[in-house]
Formats: sequence, structure tokens, C-alpha cells
Amino acid sequence: KAKQRGRNCYEMFTPQLATQAQETLQLETSLRKAFVNHEFVVYYQPQVDTVTGQIIGMEALIRWHHPELGMIPPSEFIPLAEETGLIIPLGDWVLRTACQQAQLWYKKGHRLRVAVNLSLRQFQQANLVEDIEKILTETHLDPQLLELEITESVAMSDLARTMQVLQALKRLGVHLSLDDFGTGYSSLSSLSLLPVDTVKIDKSFIQTLQADPRNAAIVETILHMARNLQLHVVAEGVEEPQQQQFLTERHCHTVQGYLFSKPLTAQDFESLLVQANAALPRAA
Ligand code: C2E
Ligand code: MG
Ligand code: MG
Ligand code: MG
Repeated sequence: KAKQRGRNCYEMFTPQLATQAQETLQLETSLRKAFVNHEFVVYYQPQVDTVTGQIIGMEALIRWHHPELGMIPPSEFIPLAEETGLIIPLGDWVLRTACQQAQLWYKKGHRLRVAVNLSLRQFQQANLVEDIEKILTETHLDPQLLELEITESVAMSDLARTMQVLQALKRLGVHLSLDDFGTGYSSLSSLSLLPVDTVKIDKSFIQTLQADPRNAAIVETILHMARNLQLHVVAEGVEEPQQQQFLTERHCHTVQGYLFSKPLTAQDFESLLVQANAALPRAA
């Protein structure tokens, strides 16, 4: 970058940048240690059926409990894990943990699908499909109870390869979803070709639903298109009852957001499950 700005640029040597580089290096070092020291935890955020009000699944979201810095959000360390390649063992661990947990809940009578995020680097791994198959076999989880989320941008980075990988994953029997839908650049034609089951409407559209009529129109259009393509829709970032009402009225199948619950530890999620099931009216 410094080079592009011309020869008299000493940007690289300013103390400020040196500090930034040092901080990144420190974070990288503690990221590696964190993995060994078991500082990562998988949280689960419920996904709720808009018709029955039932919890039908959850998204697995990684958390880092740093011994000194406290909770570090994934937005701060996932990109670094991605750059350093640590995302590969980390992503593998999240997948395994999430599958184990879903299988544990299944044995307790809760048939819930767990959604796990895949980053670009993970998606590009040559042995991705084999690794996932192995995790499913080892955890005994029904492949139908695993959902893999990739963002639109990851899907579009190499469409030909994406098609191959997604088809192979579909053959395993797992569900596939397009995350942060509406923020990337997938063309409508590629969307109809991709063997995905679900689109997740990005929370930026949901959160401005009332304030910006254009975003309301976009959400309506996505729901309409998804229905015609027979895709399942999850709306993320639902915080207000009015948002939920808007979505339910327009036949959005599933909602995920703080209105129902924040991401929870496995233990808290299980308590919520037991409470929520007890509160629901029994089927006749
Ligand atoms: P994402 O996959 O789009 O996940 C949804 C994010 O929205 C989560 O943020 C969740 O906590 C947040 N969220 C859910 N409901 C609401 C709401 O009502 N209001 C607001 N303001 N936010 C809500 P989180 O957990 O901080 O994760 C951020 C991103 O980090 C994720 O976005 C995903 O891209 C990435 N990420 C998280 N865990 C993993 C992981 O295990 N592997 C990979 N590769 N990426 C992950
Ligand atoms: Mg996601
Ligand atoms: Mg998302
Ligand atoms: Mg995201």
C-alpha cells in the first residue's frame, strides 16, 4: 500500500502502524494459545417457526472468553483466524462441537437442526466434504440435522466450484443456506442454480424495516422470490414485535433474533428449550 502512494511515503515506519502491527501479532499469538487453552465456547441462538412458535433449530456462534480482555466478538478474531489459517482447526472444532451438541439434544428428545457458519477459507479446503462426512459419522448426527451456512460472497467467489461442492454436500444429506442474503452480489440466475435450501435475510434489512420503506419492499421481494423458488427463509436480527409481525404476515418461515433470544450457552439453551416446550399448547 505504501508503495502505491509514491516513493516518499514512510507510512510503514510510523509508530502508530508499528503499534497496530504489534497488536495484531499479539492477538494472533493469543488466538493460537486460546485454542490450546480452551477459551473458545460455542453459543447457540434459537430459530423459531413463525407459525407454531416452536424452536426448530439454532445457529452455532463462536465466542472467545479471553482471560484478561473478556469476551471478544467473532467480528474481531474470525478475520484474523481466516488470515492465519487458524480458521481451519477452529472451524473444524466448531462443527464437531455443534454436531455433538445437536446429537445430545436429539437423544434427549429435541430434534433440532444446527446451523454452522463456514468461512471462505474453510469452504475452499479441498477435503471439506470428506471432513464433514467424517464429523457426521463420528458424532452419529443425522445429516439432515446439520445446516451449513455460506455467505453469498463465498458462494459467488468461484461459482463452478461452489456448484460442485454444494452438490457433494447435498449428496451427504445436509441442509445448505445462504447467509447475509441481500448484501452480496449473487445474480438471480445463479441463485436458482445453487442447490441451497434456505436463504437468510440479512439483519440490516430487518432492522430498518419500519424506518425505510425501500427495505420493507426488498424483504417482501426476497420472500416472494424465495417462495417461487421453493426456498426456505430465515430472517435474522429480529428485535421488535412489529418486525416479527411484518415477517409472519408475509409468510416468512423462521425468525432468529434478540426478540426471542440472544445466543446462549448450551446449558442456557437447554433450559430455554424445556421452558418453551412446556409453555406451548399441546397438539390435539
Ligand atoms: P452471522 O452468521 O450472520 O450471525 C448472525 C449474527 O447476528 C451473530 O453475531 C448474532 O449474535 C447476531 N444477531 C442475532 N440476532 C440479532 C439481533 O436481533 N440483533 C443484533 N444486533 N444482532 C443479532 P455474532 O455472533 O457476533 O457473529 C458475527 C459473525 O461472525 C457471524 O455472522 C458469522 O459471520 C461470524 N461467525 C460467528 N461464529 C462463527 C463460526 O463459528 N465460524 C465462522 N466461520 N464464522 C462465525
Ligand atoms: Mg450465520
Ligand atoms: Mg447472517
Ligand atoms: Mg455475517
